[in-house]
Amino acid sequence: MNGTVYKSTGSWYTVKSTDGVFYECRIKGKFRTQGIKSTNPVAVGDHVTFELENVGDETVGVISEIGERKNYIIRKSVKLSKQTHIIASNLDQVFLLVTLNNPMTFTSFIDRFLVTAEAYDIPVILLFNKMDTYSEEERAEVAYLVDLYSNIGYACIQMEAKTGKNVDKVKELMMGKTSMFAGHSGVGKSTLVNALEPGLQLKTAEISEQHLQGQHTTTFAEMYDLSFDARIIDTPGIKGFGIVDMEKDEIGDYFPEFFELKSQCKFNNCLHLDEPKCAVKEALENEEIAWSRYRSYVQMLTGEEDNPYRER
Ligand code: GDP
Ligand code: ZN
Repeated sequence: MNGTVYKSTGSWYTVKSTDGVFYECRIKGKFRTQGIKSTNPVAVGDHVTFELENVGDETVGVISEIGERKNYIIRKSVKLSKQTHIIASNLDQVFLLVTLNNPMTFTSFIDRFLVTAEAYDIPVILLFNKMDTYSEEERAEVAYLVDLYSNIGYACIQMEAKTGKNVDKVKELMMGKTSMFAGHSGVGKSTLVNALEPGLQLKTAEISEQHLQGQHTTTFAEMYDLSFDARIIDTPGIKGFGIVDMEKDEIGDYFPEFFELKSQCKFNNCLHLDEPKCAVKEALENEEIAWSRYRSYVQMLTGEEDNPYRER
């Protein structure tokens, strides 16, 4: 049988078969794992093949194979000497919720998120939430950011999770797909998910409370079917993505508007810093590339402290 992993506890996996039935499955023996070594061989979102076995009067599934992952997101455990844990796989898209205050989302955070998503090969949609709370200037700031990011190629929606404004636009983009919601604590993820699917509780909310109590718990991602044709992967404690290992000369390739110009730089390994005849720096001077984007780039390249373009 074939199915998709909806939940994992580490040793048991809840798999939904292609005909819509949920089975509790485990893994047995050795099967080919995909490319990377991780603490969990099977992740939420994985497409798996499994066989049913009778154990007493119960039917359980045994997973024998994992289908190729089109993408996956990971977390590295510092405690477990940098072991890799696959949080989820086969995501169609991630919605990043952004607010200008309560809380403030910096462009450096947005850009770092986008770069990681580009590296993971996951499309991002930017949701500018809490539009009802903004001043005239803040609305202009949002309009500026929408212009900036949609020109680079990222879809943007201005919305209000609380009043429901433009939630239907989010819903439309979710149809037939597996999505994830990310963003700082307090941006409105739970409110949005509740507007989409009344009653559904996100684990992200639980986790932020636990963090306040200074607890650390290992929790797992879980996939949910919504009442319209859409799936959500809920990943506790993830406001951004884990840091992906990237080479310095690779980072610029994940800024689409930089990458587009790279072939016009004098040096084909140009880092767009102080090299002569750099097309990216020229575009920056001509205001065709945003300073905030360049600042984020230098920040990622050099580390926060020694970045002369750091956000105040
Ligand atoms: P989460 O931590 O990302 O899940 O954020 P929550 O969904 O818990 O929202 C945090 C707070 O912001 C709650 O008090 C929500 O009612 C409020 N909130 C969420 N969306 C909006 C919005 O569009 N407008 C306003 N005014 N408040 C919102
Ligand atoms: Zn360059």
